[in-house]
Amino acid sequence: MSLPPDSLSIASNAGPTSPYVTQIAGVAVPALAERFGTPCYVYDAAMIRQRIADLAPFDTVRYAQKANSNLSVLRLVRGAGVLVDAVSAGEIARALAAGYQPGPGDHAAGQPAEIIYTADIFDRASLDAVIEHDLAVNCGSPDMIDQYGARCQPLGRKRGVTLRINPGFGHGHSQKVNTGGEGSKHGVWHEQIEMCVERAARYGLTVEGLHMHIGSGTDMEHLGRVADAMQAFALRVGPSVHAISAGGGLSTPYRGNEPPVDVAAYYSLWDATRRRLAEAWGHAVALEIEPGRYLAAESGSLVTEVRAVKQMGTKEYILVDAGFNNLVRPAMYGAYHPLAVCPAEGVPQPSAALASFVVAGPLCESGDIFTQKEGGYVEERSLVRPRVGDYLVIGAVGAYGYTMASNYNSKPLVAEVLIDGGEPRLIRAAQTPADLLRGETSESSRD
Ligand SMILES: *Cc1c(COP(=O)(O)O)cnc(C)c1O
Repeated sequence: MSLPPDSLSIASNAGPTSPYVTQIAGVAVPALAERFGTPCYVYDAAMIRQRIADLAPFDTVRYAQKANSNLSVLRLVRGAGVLVDAVSAGEIARALAAGYQPGPGDHAAGQPAEIIYTADIFDRASLDAVIEHDLAVNCGSPDMIDQYGARCQPLGRKRGVTLRINPGFGHGHSQKVNTGGEGSKHGVWHEQIEMCVERAARYGLTVEGLHMHIGSGTDMEHLGRVADAMQAFALRVGPSVHAISAGGGLSTPYRGNEPPVDVAAYYSLWDATRRRLAEAWGHAVALEIEPGRYLAAESGSLVTEVRAVKQMGTKEYILVDAGFNNLVRPAMYGAYHPLAVCPAEGVPQPSAALASFVVAGPLCESGDIFTQKEGGYVEERSLVRPRVGDYLVIGAVGAYGYTMASNYNSKPLVAEVLIDGGEPRLIRAAQTPADLLRGETSESSRD
């Protein structure tokens, strides 16, 4: 076999067609494994900065931290001038801890809030946090307007709000990330926009912005439809609107042969929409973008150790020490991640033969397979044959990797490492066995 496709989108020093990955952001994989243990998540700061720089044309880049909310990552994006979203009280606490300033902002004055709470509901903790810190809100249901308005009124707060609109159609790399249409729970249904504007006014709230996030991994033709819908909705609300947000959904080329998203085309599409609105109303309309995956995905690698290589009938399996407790995207969406082997010594073999393998984890669950398509169909990958003790690096895991990890099978959450300027730094310690038991009443502590 001559195709070594799986290393292409892993940051690799071994050349674009090498089936190996021996370094991550200039640091040898075995050195990372020895110092931080396996599995561990490793992020390349320069890659995050590069992706932020790509989006410079937008007035506001607002990071959807659910993709990767490690405090050091938040501090890094904040340092690069990126604002932030929060979808929970916990994410609000993270944003504040990372140095983002609370406060409602002022869209009409061109001052976007540093933190925006965006969701389809307030749970009680998030509503309390929003009121306590006077945060801007993006409402995804009419009930949110009522609940927020009822808390603002007695405080005499007349705030601007933004509405997240469900335009009645959607798109996504998987049905599970399709965020528009009747089958999606997200946003205010497009036929209820006027009702929401009136409802907001009852509480002295003004709809100052519209937001649409209609799915991840979208294509340009579809986005054109979204931008047109945004224009029509904004005109219905009228000149109180001072900002529009294109949401997230900028795709990541998980497969090395996928073309990167055309940011310039994407920008000019939305810029044209924004300009038409500004012209219609005679005032500026700010253009926000709200990427999660785009900023974080490519920066991340999950370093695992090969613990077994076994033949099962006609298929050969590589079993590694990471499972869907660490990275759930393959099991949950059939998501593709590039895979590459690093020999234990960190040196590529001169004559590496490729073979087809299923790559799986340690969990007591048959779905614990990294090489599967949506629907759970097991696939094989062309990889260098590893030996037990070699490393297998899973690429493009910086978004929705660690943040979706769990303690399933009582596995501790693993270490996270950020490499900046060739220096690896531990940015979250791995959980200990004691962390796993914390908060559970033991027999001995009851007496
Ligand atoms: C998840 C989410 C995003 C980010 O989506 P990506 O596909 O990661 O870019 C942006 N905005 C909202 C409201 C979201 O829920």
